[in-house]
Amino acid sequence: MASAATLPVPHLDARLFGARRLSALTDEALFERTGVRIAFTCRAGGVSEGPYAALNLGGHVGDDPAAVARNRELLLEALGAGEAALVVPSQVHGDEIVEVASAEPGAVEAARARALEGADGLLVDVPQVAALLCFADCVPVVLASPTGRFAVVHAGWRGAVAGIAGKAVRLLAARDAAELGIAPSSAAAALNAYLGPHIHAECFETGAEVRARFVDRYGADVAPDGRHVDLARALACDLGGAGLAAERIADAGACTACRLDDYFSYRASGGTCGRHGAIAVLQKG
Ligand SMILES: [Zn+2]
Repeated sequence: MASAATLPVPHLDARLFGARRLSALTDEALFERTGVRIAFTCRAGGVSEGPYAALNLGGHVGDDPAAVARNRELLLEALGAGEAALVVPSQVHGDEIVEVASAEPGAVEAARARALEGADGLLVDVPQVAALLCFADCVPVVLASPTGRFAVVHAGWRGAVAGIAGKAVRLLAARDAAELGIAPSSAAAALNAYLGPHIHAECFETGAEVRARFVDRYGADVAPDGRHVDLARALACDLGGAGLAAERIADAGACTACRLDDYFSYRASGGTCGRHGAIAVLQKG
């Protein structure tokens, strides 16, 4: 597979972006190698107030829509992607993934409309289209390929049980395999996966029925005791089952419910809160 150059092993580090010094986790080596900028955002640096302070990127959470629009604009500018077309799905805890296969304005608009009907993943094949999904405890998953393709996925417990992360790996690998003339399994093994800040097992207590669904799908290891579920472990199973290599999964290592100063947590804030983001954009080309 000489045509599919390998990516650096994934690594997440905090970095400050732009004049407002927005803090986010990113993989600089991935950016240098492929032009794909990924970022898991924090709360600081936006214009929202109260429970949404400050960089709330989520609509339909009770925040002022003008503040949300400004926050999204600030984020794109900080990342140096002010010219990119932004696509933000209406997340519905399903497993629908919308593909943006062309940067033509009409095609982007059509993808945007499909995403607004309800989707929990975006797959982007082209430069200058930014995919943003929003989170407060659920797991943000970003997949990146040596070809510059990427996917951003929302995996709450329903999405994790439905296997949306593995589905995104298979879709992305199929596109890469077709482009490079290699086997889909080789393409899947070359992907990097990034798990953003999310609620960790010790803070994610669930009912018995939810735990049973995880154990049925991913084995007993994902329910470390009688009360909690380990979402990252379930996602690692799902990603691995789809052919992604275990050493190509990086985890931000931050629990949203334990770090309310840095992240939004639906559980820890009693339900009224903003959303941090997972965003990716291919900036070259
Ligand atoms: Zn915690």
